Amino acid sequence: MHIPVIIGGGGIIGLLFYYELQKKFPALDCALLESSSFFGDMATGRNSGVLHAGLYYPEGSLKHQLCLEGNRLWDELSLELEVSLKRCGKFIVASSEDEREALAELYQKAKRNKVPLLRETTKEEEDELKKWCSYTDSFFSGSTGVLSPSEVIKNLVRKIESRGGILMKNHRIERVQELSEGEGRFLVSTDQGEFRCDTFVNACGGFAPEVRKGLGLNDFESYWVKGSYFKLNKSFYNDSLIYPVPPKDLLGLGVHTSFDLDGIIRFGPDTSSCEEYEHSLNEENMEGMFQAIQKVFKGIERSELSLDYCGIRAKIKRDGKLYPDFFIGNQREGYLEYLGIESPGLTSAPALVREGLRKLEIRG
Ligand SMILES: Cc1cc2nc3c(=O)[nH]c(=O)nc-3n(C[C@H](O)[C@H](O)[C@H](O)COP(=O)(O)OP(=O)(O)OC[C@H]3O[C@@H](n4cnc5c(N)ncnc54)[C@H](O)[C@@H]3O)c2cc1C
Repeated sequence: MHIPVIIGGGGIIGLLFYYELQKKFPALDCALLESSSFFGDMATGRNSGVLHAGLYYPEGSLKHQLCLEGNRLWDELSLELEVSLKRCGKFIVASSEDEREALAELYQKAKRNKVPLLRETTKEEEDELKKWCSYTDSFFSGSTGVLSPSEVIKNLVRKIESRGGILMKNHRIERVQELSEGEGRFLVSTDQGEFRCDTFVNACGGFAPEVRKGLGLNDFESYWVKGSYFKLNKSFYNDSLIYPVPPKDLLGLGVHTSFDLDGIIRFGPDTSSCEEYEHSLNEENMEGMFQAIQKVFKGIERSELSLDYCGIRAKIKRDGKLYPDFFIGNQREGYLEYLGIESPGLTSAPALVREGLRKLEIRG
């Protein structure tokens, strides 16, 4: 079967790409192939749901630029998709004298990154924070927000299908190869049969480096890092998020509070190595996680916490070394790929999609 455009992967990137493509070219035939029986079943449905402000990333990196742009674009997109977005802001807190300097450096970096709505904490806020966490110093980021990724996915699917879009679950892409003859530029082989297309968008998240191998692209490998969340079975401070000073390796941002729009409080995500892409929760990690929570937050008993869910960060390595940025490639004509779309990928998604559409030359 020949379809002009095929998108691989039904997470936020694949679905939003489809949504924006339909807006630009309403008559263009496109299909999305998703391996799972749910959309958003991998990283998109298993994260903190935070719209990041762009504090942490190296100046000028894609993570920095697209996070700032994506954070801004979500205002309009959330209205279009009819999803709630709460601009609750977040405090970044130093919990000991040792962390004071790192906090000050992060504040300066955030200013250099031109993060909007940054400010120092007021005396009243400081007094409030001291009730909930070990407190030495802090600053506030006002453009940080929360939304519900599952609501975003549900509404994207509804809107794409209502415009006649074709979303195929339970279709795992095994290989994508360039064609030298016959109709179309690529042959997409799945566990349900073969498709031909002129344009292929690889938005397969943690499996994107595997999917590109049939095109002779072998320069990136996957590096997965699991992050688990604890649910708190009581109420806690939830006017704004509270984040610690991040660890130097930035494998994660440190165990922080997160809350969904129903007000359920979680702590997480931690970082643990992950050889297989599977979402089991490991009781053995609980002790380390509890210690990380106790270092920053006050009044939390072990018995008030229960393991909730985990997600897998789709990091990538090049030449055996961690590649620190997003990678948007189009090394073959008609082929676009998203690699290393870990955090802040949810925030950056609208900007990642814009950037991808700019790179690909699609005609309606
Ligand atoms: C623990 C954790 C916390 C995070 N917190 C935040 C946060 O607070 N804010 C933020 O901005 N970002 C956050 N992120 C990052 C964010 O979740 C991701 O960047 C984003 O969801 C990536 O979307 P995606 O569409 O690229 O990937 P995914 O959501 O993983 O989607 C890829 C899709 O491709 C499908 N697929 C895979 N292989 C194949 C195949 N062979 N054939 C067909 N389909 C395939 C998968 O089933 C999946 O549905 C977090 C991530 C994690 C893991």
